[in-house]
Amino acid sequence: MHPDTRMVHIEAPVPAASSPLAVPIYQTSSYAFDDPELIADGLNRPDGGYAYSRFANPTVRALENAVADLEGGAAAIATSSGMGAISLLLHSLVGAGDHVIAQREVYGGTHAHLRDLEKRFDIGVTRIDGRDPEELRAALTPRTKVLYLETVANPTGHISDLPALTPVARAAGVLTVVDNTFASPIFCRPIEHGADVVVHSATKFLSGHSDVTGGLAVFADRSRYERVWEHAVEFGSVADPFAAWLTIRGLHTLGLRMERHAANVTRVAGWLATHPAVSRVTCPQPGAAGHITGFPGAFCFDLAGGREAGVRLMSRLRVIKVAASLGSTQSLILHPAGTTHRQLTPEQLRESHLTPGTIRIAIGIEHPDDLVADLAQALDFVAR
Ligand SMILES: *Cc1c(COP(=O)(O)O)cnc(C)c1O
Repeated sequence: MHPDTRMVHIEAPVPAASSPLAVPIYQTSSYAFDDPELIADGLNRPDGGYAYSRFANPTVRALENAVADLEGGAAAIATSSGMGAISLLLHSLVGAGDHVIAQREVYGGTHAHLRDLEKRFDIGVTRIDGRDPEELRAALTPRTKVLYLETVANPTGHISDLPALTPVARAAGVLTVVDNTFASPIFCRPIEHGADVVVHSATKFLSGHSDVTGGLAVFADRSRYERVWEHAVEFGSVADPFAAWLTIRGLHTLGLRMERHAANVTRVAGWLATHPAVSRVTCPQPGAAGHITGFPGAFCFDLAGGREAGVRLMSRLRVIKVAASLGSTQSLILHPAGTTHRQLTPEQLRESHLTPGTIRIAIGIEHPDDLVADLAQALDFVAR
């Protein structure tokens, strides 16, 4: 054949007597079949063989299997972002005229999506505090399809009482969906406490290095997974093989990183609590909730000097970077009243559980002495 033809049909060897230690990146959109009869099978069911990467990809499947295993689920779907997983689930599990019960304090993107569903599809949303089974019982309606919770809420650190709420939902035939991004499966496995579906922003702790946007939905039940998989194929917000590969690489050190995040949070939060420029530290106390076994890596503190102090602190930090997101090896910090919530009045800030001097910090895995020293020099500048 001609060089032009030979160069577009280069084949990779398939190792016969050995296998690669690292998961290979299957950077391919399609798969060629020796037996054309088998192609339809790959397009009809999730484990029907690999035909087209929107339906299944071996690298992505390796990630899905790993996180399903970690969460104690039957199967998982990897998506292109955390919101990709959340919107896929809500659109798959809830239809026009149905009802959702959601924790009041949830991630901003989730809050916006619930509002959108309410307006466009006449879906009723009742918001609850998430700690009282009686409150949940009172919110149930015959149209309730989903109870939506976060193990540790972003950003307030509010901890829902998962073990108390899931039996109430189950008895009413309502599915419990839990966003476990903050706790990670190292510190909480919601399926063990009765959740039906767990979602993650893999952008955060699971990948862990600020280089991936991704999400996952993990299912306790295999048949529910298969039904949602059909929607995932229609939605098309599936994970890319390279993002999946980076997330797999991140998972190698998830346990180590979570341990270090937790130890660093204890050290930095403890130090901040004794600083005269800091009026309050709001750090989740997982000890109080038996189902969460560790300190997640992000919390809030309030500066006594309000908005101006926040702006000064941000301008002075060197090691800790001013950036949105969390769950990275790098420590990240945000001053909502000076940035994302700049247009809000003090009254409106209070409704979002913020003050003009509230700072959100996500602690990385740097040496804790360097984090404390960076905050110390910046807080000295604030006090000057
Ligand atoms: C970041 C985040 C999300 C959204 O994830 P993306 O990957 O940014 O789409 C959802 N839930 C929580 C708790 C988050 O922190």
